[in-house]
Amino acid sequence: MPQTLDPQLKRALAERIRYYRELGIYDFYQRPVTAAESVEELQPQTRDEMISKSKASVAVAGVEEDLFVTPKPEAGTTDPVKALRLIREDLGDCTRCRLHQQGRKQIVFGVGNPAAELMFIGEAPGADEDQQGEPFVGRAGQLLNNMIRAMGLQREDVYIANIIKCRPPGNRMPERDECDTCSPFLMRQIAAIQPKVIVALGAVAAKTLLAINAPMGELRGRWYDFRGTKLAVTYHPAFLLRDPRQKKETWKDLQMVMNELGLAIPAKGVE
Ligand code: URA
Repeated sequence: MPQTLDPQLKRALAERIRYYRELGIYDFYQRPVTAAESVEELQPQTRDEMISKSKASVAVAGVEEDLFVTPKPEAGTTDPVKALRLIREDLGDCTRCRLHQQGRKQIVFGVGNPAAELMFIGEAPGADEDQQGEPFVGRAGQLLNNMIRAMGLQREDVYIANIIKCRPPGNRMPERDECDTCSPFLMRQIAAIQPKVIVALGAVAAKTLLAINAPMGELRGRWYDFRGTKLAVTYHPAFLLRDPRQKKETWKDLQMVMNELGLAIPAKGVE
């Protein structure tokens, strides 16, 4: 990339970056340069070097716009309640993906203890959640509540959210671009809450968070590192409603989580 940008190109670049911010995307990386580009830029770069180089490249006519490292609204806030409120405000009455035009009643942001040690992440709101504005309040939610109680916790102790915040029409699976557009807000919620453990409920949550494509049977039963937080995968409660025999396996996953959190393991499992 040249060190000085043509003003028109700079405006277009600023416009594009504003658009990404609107989507909730704040962090950028520099793609590897091709042989046609300068030898100097072929040197390996640290993230800081990339940022300072990017900043230099948009310094036009003495005006340096800090386009690449604008802090998120909640940056610097250590209070998770405040951070979550700022993230919710930034989300606004979101129209970033097609779901806002496809019959969603409201955004389902997330619910629970902002300082939770344990966070559950599901797939997407269904009809009940869309109606009430809260994740996991339908039949699957009742089962999730049972799972939480079996762990010796209350729903209010944990934080519950989904990969996407709007109900897909007919409860279809979220599309890839919907997950890509929405999940940066979830990432910011996770960063605000800083749970000790995340439990991904079902394949959509697991695959989106871990960027792994594998069957559920292979994904569950072990720990993953998710940006420095321990993450476990278990079956989605809606799946357990269809196949209750898998509750036994789910209970094993939850016991693994309880061990990690130092919770006593009761004899009774998930009902
Ligand atoms: N299923 C989900 O994945 N999330 C909900 O909030 C409800 C059902």
